[in-house]
Amino acid sequence: EASRRAPGAVTVCSSPMMATAQQRVSLDIDLRRAVEADRLTVHYQPVVALDGGRIVGYEALARWPDQERGWVSPDAFIPAAERNGLISDIGLRVLRQALRDKRRYGGSFDTWLSVNVSVVQLDDDTFADQVLRAMADEGMSGEQLRIEVTESALLASARSRAQLIELRRAGIRVLVDDFGTGFSSLASVRRLPIDGIKISRELLHDEEPGLPDPTVVRAVRLLAAGAGVTDIIAEGVESALEVRTLAALGMPYAQGFHLGRPAPASRALRWPLAPASVN
Ligand code: C2E
Ligand code: MG
Ligand code: MG
Ligand code: MG
Repeated sequence: EASRRAPGAVTVCSSPMMATAQQRVSLDIDLRRAVEADRLTVHYQPVVALDGGRIVGYEALARWPDQERGWVSPDAFIPAAERNGLISDIGLRVLRQALRDKRRYGGSFDTWLSVNVSVVQLDDDTFADQVLRAMADEGMSGEQLRIEVTESALLASARSRAQLIELRRAGIRVLVDDFGTGFSSLASVRRLPIDGIKISRELLHDEEPGLPDPTVVRAVRLLAAGAGVTDIIAEGVESALEVRTLAALGMPYAQGFHLGRPAPASRALRWPLAPASVN
């Protein structure tokens, strides 16, 4: 406790820049403690087939409940973990927890599990081996796992692509996350070792609040078909009207608050029933 909040620290570091640096250090220290004490947890958000509304998979999302901060957003602690070297440990813990949760709560259901992977993890040439060992330990086959990576990660290095190729050889599918945000170029989809695309809300909607842009949906579907990519998932679907529009445009899968919010395993994985209304 003493090292985290030294007496007088706030008055000593009075400039905004120092405060920020100090907040970073304190977040890093608290995150490390949380990881070491195994206090991070995993929530699961369903992926839904728009043709009928069946839940086909779940995305595992890391959660950090901190006594003082409350639930810290992954958008804050994942980048911190990528900076301070904790990401590989966190990523492996999330994966192992997700595999255990799936076996415990959703063992008999034929749903896939999708896990986010950082570019930093992929750049480690033991990564694929770690994943395959965890799968073997938990008795999970490659076909049941998806890995979500950003497009910039896919383009990052030959080493990271080699990891993905090794995972795909074991039947694990690779999805491009947040497609349409960063440097997405539609052409790169053809050249990358991928099996699916998660279309970002930003690409689907040019205005807020708006409906999914039919031109975007058609373009991505055409491109995916040409590249042999089968898993196409619309992200961030927040209304019934969006769901109906996407379904009418032939979007195969979707994810979003309207279809199911991220929830703990005991609630999310136990009864993979269709959500209230898809069509
Ligand atoms: P992501 O992988 O793109 O995950 C989707 C994020 O959008 C999640 O935020 C989810 O809660 C949120 N979301 C889902 N449906 C909706 C919706 O309808 N509307 C809106 N506005 N948001 C929606 P979350 O859980 O806060 O995670 C944020 C990001 O943190 C993730 O984005 C992912 O990039 C990263 N992340 C989370 N867990 C992990 C992890 O275990 N490892 C790594 N490397 N990254 C993670
Ligand atoms: Mg994701
Ligand atoms: Mg995403
Ligand atoms: Mg994201």
